[in-house]
Amino acid sequence: MSRIWLSLAHMGGAEQGFVREAFDTNWVVPLGPNVDGFERDLEVWLSQHSRNEVHVVALASGTSAIHLALVMLGIAPGDEVICQSFTFAATANPICYQGATPVFVDSELGTWNMDPELLEQTICDRLEKTGRLPKAILPVHLYGVPARMNDILRVADRYGIPVVEDAAEAMGSLYDGQYCGTMGKYGILSFNGNKMITTSGGGALICHSKEEADRVKFFATQAREPFPYYQHEHIGFNYRLSNVSAGIGRGQMQVVDAHIERRRAIHRLYADLLQEVPGITVMEPVSNTNIASNFWLTCILVDPAIVGYTRDELAAKLFAADIESRPLWKPMHLQPVFAQAPSYTNGVSEEVFECGLCIPSGPMVSDEDVQYIVNQIKELRK
Ligand SMILES: *Cc1c(COP(=O)(O)O)cnc(C)c1O
Repeated sequence: MSRIWLSLAHMGGAEQGFVREAFDTNWVVPLGPNVDGFERDLEVWLSQHSRNEVHVVALASGTSAIHLALVMLGIAPGDEVICQSFTFAATANPICYQGATPVFVDSELGTWNMDPELLEQTICDRLEKTGRLPKAILPVHLYGVPARMNDILRVADRYGIPVVEDAAEAMGSLYDGQYCGTMGKYGILSFNGNKMITTSGGGALICHSKEEADRVKFFATQAREPFPYYQHEHIGFNYRLSNVSAGIGRGQMQVVDAHIERRRAIHRLYADLLQEVPGITVMEPVSNTNIASNFWLTCILVDPAIVGYTRDELAAKLFAADIESRPLWKPMHLQPVFAQAPSYTNGVSEEVFECGLCIPSGPMVSDEDVQYIVNQIKELRK
């Protein structure tokens, strides 16, 4: 039996055709018809479930998309940006690229995402301590589960602070009938190798006007002013997605809905099969409105007092059975690199991090694989 990976990419078949076309037409340069086509595909697809107008810019990574969102918002040294603590470091790093300070906010139990009440307390406390309001709020839809966006946006609006949604893991997840990434001032997606779809590395920034999208493209291509010679009046970046990578993305857009359905089915199967196993809890999100997670990764919580082993012991057992698993993201307020950053905690992310494990959830995982993985989990209990 070969190894079962956490989140392996899956090609639909059309990808090679788009990439070959790029070669045949010598568009092996950055930008070209696949980039335009991929952006249009994303706009059409996202518009199916968006109350806002959608304009998409294809970029080199999800991280560069977050960075450009902060550039667009004029985040500068001395500013503070509120960031969900329970996330991957890529959410927080771009705050530091801009010389700003991340302020970390903990999660609530229902979704594992930014706690809206704690968010408001944080804003008030920062105002009291620094005399200034934070310049942006960065919630995350972790593991595909939508954050409580209505509540977060209500708090943000009360203080006039823009929200950048990190939907890197949540392509296709729905909150109150809207796709994650379409609700904030800006939203970002990732097309890294293990995300919902891949371009072998890439990302997108979701904007709500053509003017904003054009401005993002300007910053993403070295901020070249429209002069006959090279004229620069702003610091620019080389952040565009290549035409070859975008070709992979165009092919992936033909299978994105199937991928989402498959990950949801895998989650349902895990939930059914693990229901009877005391001490193992499959994360089932609870929110205050209709949500539909894409279940990018299925997460389980291990209660050592009941099962008699720790999360790490389970991971080791799975590893020996050729199954890849991974602890949940370690919260940013526990990371040495962010030790100096202010943080507002409530114990939720630390508690979940201690005992949580991600198990194989990619579209290449079969029902038999899920059954095998569950059997391994059950066996360890004896
Ligand atoms: C993957 C990821 C990113 C970064 O995306 P890249 O395309 O890898 O740069 C950002 N935030 C979260 C939560 C992610 O999981």
